Amino acid sequence: MFVDSHCHINFPELAQNLDEVLAKMRQNQVGHALVVSVNMDDWPGLMELVRPHPHLFASVGVHPDYPDVVEPSVQDLLDRAADPKVVAIGETGLDYFRLQEPLDWQRERFRIHIRASRQSGLPLIIHTRSASKDTLDIMAQEHAEHAGGVMHCFTESWDVAQAAMAMNFYISFSGIVTFKSASDLQEVARRVPLERLLIETDSPYLAPVPYRGKLNHPALVVHVAEKIAELKGLSVKEVEEASTENFFRLFSKIKR
Ligand SMILES: [Zn+2]
Ligand SMILES: [Zn+2]
Repeated sequence: MFVDSHCHINFPELAQNLDEVLAKMRQNQVGHALVVSVNMDDWPGLMELVRPHPHLFASVGVHPDYPDVVEPSVQDLLDRAADPKVVAIGETGLDYFRLQEPLDWQRERFRIHIRASRQSGLPLIIHTRSASKDTLDIMAQEHAEHAGGVMHCFTESWDVAQAAMAMNFYISFSGIVTFKSASDLQEVARRVPLERLLIETDSPYLAPVPYRGKLNHPALVVHVAEKIAELKGLSVKEVEEASTENFFRLFSKIKR
């Protein structure tokens, strides 16, 4: 069984065809998917979507690319994290690619999420883009190593991967690792130990080869696993088993 550790199937492109999305997951043996929150306004709808499905889970958090949304307090996050379906805090982090300084609000929001993660005992889902130094600095200052979690849709260097793993974080690869242009990232994927690796789609975006440019969905996570197996010289089954095992170890609130 494969697991998609990070998707956004509550976004309209996928939510409007949810039955088909779930059927394709079954066809490709993708047994579970974690539907990741990006803001508080959409969170109730996300919960409504995952609630009836025993193999779908949720997170709670506000993405760094949303400047003008309700800012959650630590308590807001803790209250929602108590729901049995909520297994992680995020996605949170820093993104200096999409938005320009002043971004003090983004850094403060990130700190709030790390505190909520530590207090709830739920792992963090971290998004970082063009901001790896500040991301790692804030993780260290807020003792994110006590929370642990995952650096999702990883596109950074091996040095950043090592620093994150040293703070109890897993490294999650998306369809980007299948792109021809991603040779540096492929080298990182070769080096990340199997026991610290997760796979994800980040759908509806970033469909893996051979679906690049098309609408992405959780069933396509098998193509990420295939690419990582090829890079590491392993069987797809070995990557499938390890990444699924890692998923359940990290998101330990999920009862198998
Ligand atoms: Zn992200
Ligand atoms: Zn995401």
